Amino acid sequence: MPRRQFAHKAGGGKTTHAISGRGERGAEPIESRLGSKQAGGGEQAASDDATSEAPRFAAGLYVVATPIGNLRDITLRALDILAAADVIACEDTRVTEKLMSRYGLAGQRLAYHEHNAERMRPLLIEKLKAGAVVALVSDAGTPLISDPGFKLVRAAIAEGIAVTTLPGASAALAALVLSGLPSDRFFFQGFLPPKEAARRRVLGEIAKLRATLIVYETGPRLAATLADMAELLGDRPASVARELTKLYEELHRGGLAALAAHYATAGAPKGEIVIVVGGVDEAAARAAITDDELDAALDAALATMSVKDASAAVAEATGRPRREVYQRALILAGRGE
Ligand code: SAM
Repeated sequence: MPRRQFAHKAGGGKTTHAISGRGERGAEPIESRLGSKQAGGGEQAASDDATSEAPRFAAGLYVVATPIGNLRDITLRALDILAAADVIACEDTRVTEKLMSRYGLAGQRLAYHEHNAERMRPLLIEKLKAGAVVALVSDAGTPLISDPGFKLVRAAIAEGIAVTTLPGASAALAALVLSGLPSDRFFFQGFLPPKEAARRRVLGEIAKLRATLIVYETGPRLAATLADMAELLGDRPASVARELTKLYEELHRGGLAALAAHYATAGAPKGEIVIVVGGVDEAAARAAITDDELDAALDAALATMSVKDASAAVAEATGRPRREVYQRALILAGRGE
């Protein structure tokens, strides 16, 4: 794969953009930063064109995060690329137009969404191969995260096209950090299937994970999903984050059963929602399996595995300490006391 650099270069006359106006108190004029060392990756803005201080970007695909609600949650680099890109591939051009006009930006926007992606992807790849700077944005947050973009990134990588990201907001991480639940290990589920049977099957699949679970959900399905979670995951601590970064941001923290009961009577809330649920509690998992069940699990595992592998697998599945399971496996295998 060719080595490509994403160093900004000055120049490009018309790409100068100002974001300091529009009555925003505290907004830093972007011009004050350009022409000096760029943030991130030690990028340097050269000053070969005194008429413009706006950065230019090397050819390639730029995956650009945009706000999840509050339009001020946009990075300076995201504004730079939206000003400089040859093409902005948008999930919905009208949504991106709203963001860009807020910052006085214009630029060629093309729709790239699940309904036209098969047709648009080769076209975007052709533009990239011809040396275009292509910015990929979704309606909110980070593209590819429950949003279009994965296949475009994969195709660009396969073609040896430079791909980088201008990171920023994502509802998953915003909800996780506000949940009050462990953040050291987490599992991003995205949306659960809308149909009940499939939803319950997926919940069953992730029920044993020793990681905080992050689930995107809609208002109309919230109560049913919480009820299924309470039944299939148990009454774990959870949080429902709604309208993050927006005027009516709301966090409800509590046990899954209480949250399910609350939304069953309160009705479907408006707005966008992330559910965060504590991982399977290790002590509860340990208590949940009896010694007889442990022996049965070990017997089954020992039928096809060595003592070492069987005890490792059963310890992982049950949450019982490895040493204890290993000792028990030795006994069952006839090699212990
Ligand atoms: N790409 C986005 C990201 O990085 O978070 C997610 C896009 S996905 C199509 C939209 C879902 O994200 C919503 O249905 C909701 O579950 C969640 N979401 C997006 N913005 C949110 C917000 N401001 N507050 C709560 N949840 C949000």
